[in-house]
Amino acid sequence: MEQRPLPLPDSPELDVLPTESHRLLYAYLFERRDDPPTMREIRAYLAERLGEAPAQTDRRVRDLRDHFDVPAVRLGADYRYRLTGWSKVKKAGSRKGVSKRVRAEVLAPQRCAQCGRQPLEHGVVLVVDHKVPREWGGADDIENLQPLCEDCNSGKKAFYATYDEYAEEIAAASLHPEPHGRIGGATKSLPW
Ligand SMILES: [Zn+2]
Repeated sequence: MEQRPLPLPDSPELDVLPTESHRLLYAYLFERRDDPPTMREIRAYLAERLGEAPAQTDRRVRDLRDHFDVPAVRLGADYRYRLTGWSKVKKAGSRKGVSKRVRAEVLAPQRCAQCGRQPLEHGVVLVVDHKVPREWGGADDIENLQPLCEDCNSGKKAFYATYDEYAEEIAAASLHPEPHGRIGGATKSLPW
């Protein structure tokens, strides 16, 4: 099957991107396809052009990935972001998510995977938690899911928020080819 070619930075095909700033990011990655930039370079570029904060830039990169493949490739000591083509997977926003059946299976032990409290005995409410968060590249597969009580879940969310600036690097590390290695690789340095 013929691959759909990458549009030029001034192409009307880029109307799929939500803002002018996303198109500027696209143009930068397009020009640097053969010498892909690091996240630091991308942040510096958009900070200079638009006065953007790093977290804003990271979000733009994620938005761009709804439409285009921008894998983080390790070159020497750095991860570099290479624009390679149109995304072959569906937009992140239209992800199917966790099915009812999988949800029921994850919650079946009726016990928080972190603190061990149980709904009937301790009155906690269990939720389905992504071990590696979706924003960090975590899948909706059962091996990436666990039951957590609401307390443990919000504690974990707060913990991840403090690491948000590393989200891109960790998502890159989680592109490991084998699912168990992928989860292990992404969480190895984290305390659970
Ligand atoms: Zn808990």
